[in-house]
Amino acid sequence: MLGLMQSQQLSISSLIDFAERHHGEGQIVSRRVEGDIHRYTYKECAARSRQLAKALDTLKVAFGERVASIAWNGYRHMEMYFGVSGSGRVLHTINPRMHPEQIAWVIGHAQDQVVCFDMSFLPIAKAIHAKCPSVRQWVALCDADKLPADTGIPGLASYEALLAAESGGYAWPEFDENTASSMCYTSGTTGNPKAALYSHRSTVLHAYAAALPDVMSLSARDSILPVVPMFHVNAWGIPYSAALTGAKLVFPGPGMDGKSIYDLIELEQVTYAAGVPTIWQMLLSHMEPNGLRFSSLKRTVIGGSACPPAMITAFNDKYGVEVLHAWGMTEMSPLGTLCTLKNKHLTMSEADKMKVRLKQGRCIYGVDMKIVDGNNNELPWDGKTYGDLLVKGPWVVREYFKGVGDTEAVKPLIDGWFPTGDVATIDADGYMQITDRSKDVIKSGGEWISSIDIENIAVAHPAVAMAACIGMRHPKWDERPIVAVVKKPGQELTREELLAFYAGKAAKWQVPDDVVFLDAIPLGATGKMQKTKLRDILKDYVLPDLR
Ligand code: ADP
Repeated sequence: MLGLMQSQQLSISSLIDFAERHHGEGQIVSRRVEGDIHRYTYKECAARSRQLAKALDTLKVAFGERVASIAWNGYRHMEMYFGVSGSGRVLHTINPRMHPEQIAWVIGHAQDQVVCFDMSFLPIAKAIHAKCPSVRQWVALCDADKLPADTGIPGLASYEALLAAESGGYAWPEFDENTASSMCYTSGTTGNPKAALYSHRSTVLHAYAAALPDVMSLSARDSILPVVPMFHVNAWGIPYSAALTGAKLVFPGPGMDGKSIYDLIELEQVTYAAGVPTIWQMLLSHMEPNGLRFSSLKRTVIGGSACPPAMITAFNDKYGVEVLHAWGMTEMSPLGTLCTLKNKHLTMSEADKMKVRLKQGRCIYGVDMKIVDGNNNELPWDGKTYGDLLVKGPWVVREYFKGVGDTEAVKPLIDGWFPTGDVATIDADGYMQITDRSKDVIKSGGEWISSIDIENIAVAHPAVAMAACIGMRHPKWDERPIVAVVKKPGQELTREELLAFYAGKAAKWQVPDDVVFLDAIPLGATGKMQKTKLRDILKDYVLPDLR
């Protein structure tokens, strides 16, 4: 027997409709590429999203066809989130930090029909347009009078001119909630990138879950700054969850440096911010020497790579900002776990609380997880046993977009579970902790050393700005860890001092064999340390006992 409730399809357009109707005056503030600060309301955002949908009709972009964005976080990008997906097209967000060749490759793979780009990415568009035969229309996200005359891109249009040409009403089409809504390519550290293809259903369910109190805890009273980019995994779903809650949105545009972020937080009285550790490192490095404080910021979600304890302490103890450690991935829309405490933790000592906070957290309703050994046998939740982490749920990929054949790279599931490529422990309370990416874990003498643990100890040293631990081949031990370190400006530190710092913090056999000082550690397109590139830099390196 079927239930007798209305079966309204979950759709992305319903989110912006809701925001328009119930939070019409809610603000969306954007630092623009043009340099100024732009302000408008959800009402205006909804109206312009519908105009964009009409403009795509005029351009004859068919239902299900892909429209790409190469853009910073800003109101026009927000309109694309709703106008493109809401009208049944698929928004392909492109990471501008990828190599131009790779951008051309993903545009071809996705068969993008229209590509809209911020003016800061004009050089990318100029470099690749001739290599992108699928693209019928290039659009610069700018006013008509800002469009340069001689770009060499045939038929380049201005976004504002396209919108201005549309008038009259528009009604969002209705369609099956399983229809594709947007797509995002993984960073593709090995081979060509693979795309996760999200649906309206997966996106709306994820937006609901993300807003919950023990997840991101978003409300109409928040002023949210997503520093995490809209060009990668939908800015952790914040644009959708913000529309669902009516929260004020503050977009940083291209201003990702510590000063610009700090100024925006204060100017817009941001209560809530989200980003990867490297961004927060830049913010803290700006605040510390200038003796700055936050007047409004209450919480920050940190994820994308492991949040070092020193960062949690700085935010919590020094600035009174609660850190929510989060874990997820492109293939998971992206949220999987978030670290919020349970009642039993509240009476613990600060040191014990910190041990919990360092974990990536517990599952959000909708996601299930398990750890398994090499034979796919499930491992216990004891907080010590580590294994490969597998997940499933309605916003986890089933297959990659347009893969060919039945290979693991196309259909990754194992008995219905998605293998994340992460190695983790899960404790009796269900808190998961990543020990490593399976490819980064260091296998030494039959034991595993977590590169994350080694890095966390290094960055706790006051002279260390950034640290990356990698395994080097060793004839006796298989691999031995070394740590590459970037010193804070003006700080002195020797190899011996740092190695001595590990005493009592890691078992003797886990202490790195060597320290290599570098000016910078290579960062990937999403701000994560790129260990493959680091290995290239250190290709001639020889471990001390093998010299
Ligand atoms: P990519 O496109 O490089 O796959 P994702 O953003 O999808 O980038 O990255 C997902 C991976 O990032 C996870 O599988 C995990 O290894 C790592 N990651 C994400 N959040 C955390 C975290 N809080 N702690 C440790 N690792 C994390």
